Amino acid sequence: MSTTLPPNREETDEVTEQDTESALATARRQLKQAAAHLDIDENIVERLNHPARVHRVAVPLERDDGSLDVFTGYRSQHDAVRGPYKGGLRFHPHVTEDECIGLSMWMTWKCAVMDLPFGGAKGGIVVNPKKLSDDEKERLTRRFTQELRDAIGPMQDIPAPDMGTDAQTMAWIMDAYSMQEGETTPGVVTGKPPVIGGSYGREEAPGRSVAIITRLACDYYDMPLSDTTVAVQGFGSVGANAARLLDSWGANVVAVSDVNGAIYDPDGLDTHDVPTHEEEPEAVMKYDAPQKLENHELLELDVDVLIPAAIGNVLTEDNADNVTADLIIEGANGPTTTGADKIFEAKGIHVIPDILANAGGVTVSYFEWLQDINRRRWSLDRVNEELETEMNTAWESVKEEFDTRDVSWRDAAYIVGLRRIAEAHQARGVWP
Ligand code: NAD
Repeated sequence: MSTTLPPNREETDEVTEQDTESALATARRQLKQAAAHLDIDENIVERLNHPARVHRVAVPLERDDGSLDVFTGYRSQHDAVRGPYKGGLRFHPHVTEDECIGLSMWMTWKCAVMDLPFGGAKGGIVVNPKKLSDDEKERLTRRFTQELRDAIGPMQDIPAPDMGTDAQTMAWIMDAYSMQEGETTPGVVTGKPPVIGGSYGREEAPGRSVAIITRLACDYYDMPLSDTTVAVQGFGSVGANAARLLDSWGANVVAVSDVNGAIYDPDGLDTHDVPTHEEEPEAVMKYDAPQKLENHELLELDVDVLIPAAIGNVLTEDNADNVTADLIIEGANGPTTTGADKIFEAKGIHVIPDILANAGGVTVSYFEWLQDINRRRWSLDRVNEELETEMNTAWESVKEEFDTRDVSWRDAAYIVGLRRIAEAHQARGVWP
């Protein structure tokens, strides 16, 4: 691990997330902002400004034509004071060490807001998975697992799917790890297929938590769901699951979009009839709807609730003034830039942050880990019931901070998370 590596041969010009502020800069700014509201030992804050360790590995891959490429992989482990590290692995050409560190910090806050016994991690390989055959992807994943073998494990660090990785990738990691350890170890990863210890309801969980938090926020602001109009950007795993649940709970989902544009029906769409990204990729615009809109127009629609659930940095200083929704529920990770946040605050638009709203994913990952360790499967009903309970509890904790301090919902969520982490550090001691 941690060697000097030649640059990857892989090259791509694909861009999936705009980069207005690096994930690390955002994570550090948010830490500072939350710490300012709490009486925390500054040594603990300084400790949290840094990852505990970052693994940097060379991952050689024999290509199908017999040639060899060497890719760079990372695993940032930020903080484990409350339990093993937890976070996704992404295969993407723009993965960087700093991005992994920033995202691992976000995972620390997210797990703490949900009061899960985990700390934050994030990792990935700098590679364009679309340019790999299935066999190459499998070989790359297994070799990456071997390089990280000493760093991961059910009680150490538990990876999960992220951009460019999926349940199959997790199955390969579990198999490679288990073969080397000499025992079947399903708890080393979450987001696996249910047949090898994955949890029912894991795939729908982030969207389900977005829907639950939307319902709770509407309730808080006395907005009956049956009178509430909703626009959802992105009709993938998070967006479509959230839209369909809200639709079935009586909300009026008037617009949804994918990368090609948006569809709009002021009387409400039948969201169960619109194909999701998984059912038919990028097919939203093929759906017969009264109006088709440009993607940016969806963000500016006159609706009660806006759910950005596609990619990061879509609500910026350039368009925030045009947003007229009363409530924004962050389905995607980091959809709102700092500049936009300030504009929304000035306009009285409430933004419920990603670390609370989409935390259903890591919460059901925790359920999956519990099931793996106990070798006992939960029914889908039990998963959904327990998720509902966890989301309600987290909402109450954040609401208490929001009600008692003059802060945004985002700050309230960070305060809840940071206080729990700081108290754990205080109790255990920093051991300098
Ligand atoms: P997905 O690939 O299933 O769907 C993404 C959707 O967004 C697709 O419909 C795509 O067409 C659309 N899209 C892409 N670029 C767009 C653009 N510029 N404008 C409008 N639509 C666009 O992805 P997902 O798993 O639903 O993830 C969405 C977001 O939620 C990401 O930010 C991800 O990091 C975050 N997230 C995902 C999970 C999870 O477990 N799936 C958990 C927490 C957070």
